[in-house]
Amino acid sequence: MRQYELVERVQRYNPHADENLLNKAYVYAMTQHGSQTRASGDPYFSHPLEVAAILTDLRLDDATIVAALLHDTIEDTPTTRDEIDAKFGHEIGALVEGLTKIKKLDLVSKRAAQAENLRKLLLAVSEDVRVLLVKLADRLHNMRTLEFVPADKRKRIAEETLDIYGPLAGRMGIQWMREELEDLAFATLQPGAYKMISERLKDRWDAAAPEVAEIEAALHEKLKKAGISADIKGRSKRPYSVWRKMELRAISFEQLSDIYGFRVIVDDVADCYRTLGIVHTSWPMVPGKFKDYISTPKQNDYRSIHTTVLGPGHQRVELQVRTRQMHDVAEYGIAAHVLYKEDGAPPRPNGKDTGKDANGAGTTQRKSAVESNAYKWLRQLVDMLAEGDTPEEFLEHTKLQLFQDQVFCFTPKGRVVALPRGATAIDFAYAVHTDVGNNAIGCKINGRLEPLISQLTNGDEVEILTAKDQTPPAAWESIVITGKARQSIRRAARSQIRTQYAGLGRKMLERAFTRAERTYSDERLAAVIARLGQSNVDDALAAVGRGEIPSDHVIRAIYPDHRDESVARDVVRGEAREEEDRSDEGWFGLRRAMGLKFRWPGRSARSKRRESEDGGAIPIRGLHGDLPVQFAPKGGAVPGDRIVGIMTPGEGITIYPIQSPSLKTFDDQPDRWLDVRWEIDPDDPERFPAVIGVRVLNEPGSLAEIAQIIGEQDANIDTVAMTTRAPDFTEMEIALEVWDLKHLSRTMALVKNAGVVNAVWRVNG
Ligand code: MN
Repeated sequence: MRQYELVERVQRYNPHADENLLNKAYVYAMTQHGSQTRASGDPYFSHPLEVAAILTDLRLDDATIVAALLHDTIEDTPTTRDEIDAKFGHEIGALVEGLTKIKKLDLVSKRAAQAENLRKLLLAVSEDVRVLLVKLADRLHNMRTLEFVPADKRKRIAEETLDIYGPLAGRMGIQWMREELEDLAFATLQPGAYKMISERLKDRWDAAAPEVAEIEAALHEKLKKAGISADIKGRSKRPYSVWRKMELRAISFEQLSDIYGFRVIVDDVADCYRTLGIVHTSWPMVPGKFKDYISTPKQNDYRSIHTTVLGPGHQRVELQVRTRQMHDVAEYGIAAHVLYKEDGAPPRPNGKDTGKDANGAGTTQRKSAVESNAYKWLRQLVDMLAEGDTPEEFLEHTKLQLFQDQVFCFTPKGRVVALPRGATAIDFAYAVHTDVGNNAIGCKINGRLEPLISQLTNGDEVEILTAKDQTPPAAWESIVITGKARQSIRRAARSQIRTQYAGLGRKMLERAFTRAERTYSDERLAAVIARLGQSNVDDALAAVGRGEIPSDHVIRAIYPDHRDESVARDVVRGEAREEEDRSDEGWFGLRRAMGLKFRWPGRSARSKRRESEDGGAIPIRGLHGDLPVQFAPKGGAVPGDRIVGIMTPGEGITIYPIQSPSLKTFDDQPDRWLDVRWEIDPDDPERFPAVIGVRVLNEPGSLAEIAQIIGEQDANIDTVAMTTRAPDFTEMEIALEVWDLKHLSRTMALVKNAGVVNAVWRVNG
């Protein structure tokens, strides 16, 4: 087909067609596809052109025809959506993108029988009914040229056509397309059966021809006499529908009746009923076959009178009587609505029309009318698609309503992931696999890097980026909306905490065993696990870490002859123990079980710098280390600070710089004090919290100046709080994140150097 032929075809039914737009699209698509060829060896461009031609048969609007010409450009050529938007407007851009998304469905069905999902997906992704119409035409042309495709691919495409596209065309009311799609698929999948049925249909038709001609002539005569002008067409049943009837009812071809019939097209509704009267008085009607879809139209707007009569030779002949307009609806289905709306404007369900549409009629008034139509239109489509008489179809109806609340996305390999509307990429990650969710660190949506908290939309292709040993932030729990993701995040948090406690437990045991001059090993612990009331080594270690099992118990479980000498040893060392709770049980036995040196609580203990005597102190690596650690809620602590740990059962260790006034609170709870030391991995640095106080002169821009200095020093500002506001100066506390004490001191010094700054000090809670 030539360029001018396409334009002519469109102009035949749409005199206002935008010739320039059609020509531009024709040339553009041809240029973009360039020298690409189809499996048949034809230039690739012949395909989109034929698809456009099919859509002119459906008499569709310019935008749809243009979208058909461009439908493979984004996927198969370097063309981008932006380019199409720029050249043809947003409306056409959206249609072509819809088609690009649907194209990925072909990948999906290759993997699994997901017909159910697929049909829903198709609807969800389309948004605009015209996308579906182009897709159907695309499939029809591919089916017509299927012989050139390799056998295995051929089979898959034919199956998909039979499962999805045929029924879809039917439900959209485009009968001829459904029949052609199904017959083509049937011929591909069951060539033997197709051949057999086609041949027999032809035989029967030939045999019945005289009788059919007789009826036709008689009918013509009678209608003419009654003054009814009618267009009468004889028709045979289609091979696939015959085959299905044979399969469904388990009958042989010979048992099939009414395999041919007439379609009588008249001028108006009154003539339909007059024709019916003439038919019924001329030939006996077959009971139970009469249906009046004129008084009660089908939900897809199909209107017609069906009846079956017994011909002279006792052949059953089916008759369909309808008006020209009813016939159009039956042939074009939903496409008939697209072109013929009362206001003459093609409906645009997605309402995203920029107004620069193909007909150049982009007034605001028109646009709002289109938008108000949008919802109605989509609903009508869904109703129509859901329409059906069988329980299965009813079931599907309910499912179709369900899918309104869902979004369907793809993995890069084309797997469909169905999620509730509002789901994020995190939900997607967990839906793919728990490990993917737990290790997620980022994502690409449609090839672009996006935050993991992004909400997904229909047809998004989502690629989750992962890193080993990553754990999900607890904050995700309130962001995700799927139960699976939420549970997994919770479980991961729990298991992370458990791991940290187990790590602490192991350190405590190793230390206690050394003190007791015994040897610790996981194997030895495993051997006595039942005696400790635990089910595995990790649980036992975590229980020790949480203070639920004193280290002594573990030592005695492994070495029944062990006597706790640590008390005596500590006394020998001259450390005061008198006031200490001697209970071996529970948390309060912990410190002693660990064999940690007793530290007098209070000012004197804190000020007495403990010589860095051994590795007995618990190494603190940071928030992401192997222990349940947190930092002084106010003031924090940074590597380089002299620190102590305060244990809180169930919460872990809180690290305080030794100068923290809060430590006084724990003076009377000596058992909660732990020896800790920094052990920072230089290869995996982490920032630590600290708070500084700053007194600045009230000058414009002073805060900005400070912020800049801090920023230049690569220190993060967490929060800034004004504490004192005097007429001439302001005091504030700035919560920072720094690498270590050196970093903090350098930053403080530079802040202090700033002209507006009067004083800088460290704040400790
Ligand atoms: Mn195509």
